[in-house]
Amino acid sequence: MKTTARVLLTLDCHRDCPYCVNKSSNIMSQARVIKSFEELTPYEEILISGGEPLLYPELIEALLKVVTHQKVYLYTTLFRYKLAKDIYPRLAGIDFTVHEDDTTSVNAMQGWQTLASHHEPKNNRLMLAPDIKRGLNIVPACWSTIIVKTWRYGDECIVPPHEDLLLYEA
Ligand code: SF4
Repeated sequence: MKTTARVLLTLDCHRDCPYCVNKSSNIMSQARVIKSFEELTPYEEILISGGEPLLYPELIEALLKVVTHQKVYLYTTLFRYKLAKDIYPRLAGIDFTVHEDDTTSVNAMQGWQTLASHHEPKNNRLMLAPDIKRGLNIVPACWSTIIVKTWRYGDECIVPPHEDLLLYEA
């Protein structure tokens, strides 16, 4: 049994990144479909990913009602204040990516950062595209890791050996 479940909550996304790992048949062929969040309870660690999970906040809330004892991380590129303030205390951390030099992404980063600054430090990771030109007001104390990331295309990626890749389909 692997320790970590990476859950693709949805494949829907408001972006269309050319390097999206979800476009890799090599990766997606390794995904196992789950129909219920009860299937996550044996894992020690849950990575909520997608697509963009925050497009479906009701699914995140439903997952967190079932997965009550594990470390849960949220992978996102958005910020939704009402949901974020409710779920952030329950998360072990977020993995936030600024894919593009656009105002929406930067504002979302600032939103998470402001929220994080009102809580005890968590294991938050900030991933930045290498071509961001504008100055970012990054508060280092809000992030445990900050990485300027050169994107790898889907077929260059692997599923880490300790992870199960799971695709949620209601
Ligand atoms: S934001 Fe993430 S999930 Fe969405 S298209 Fe880009 S890489 Fe894929």
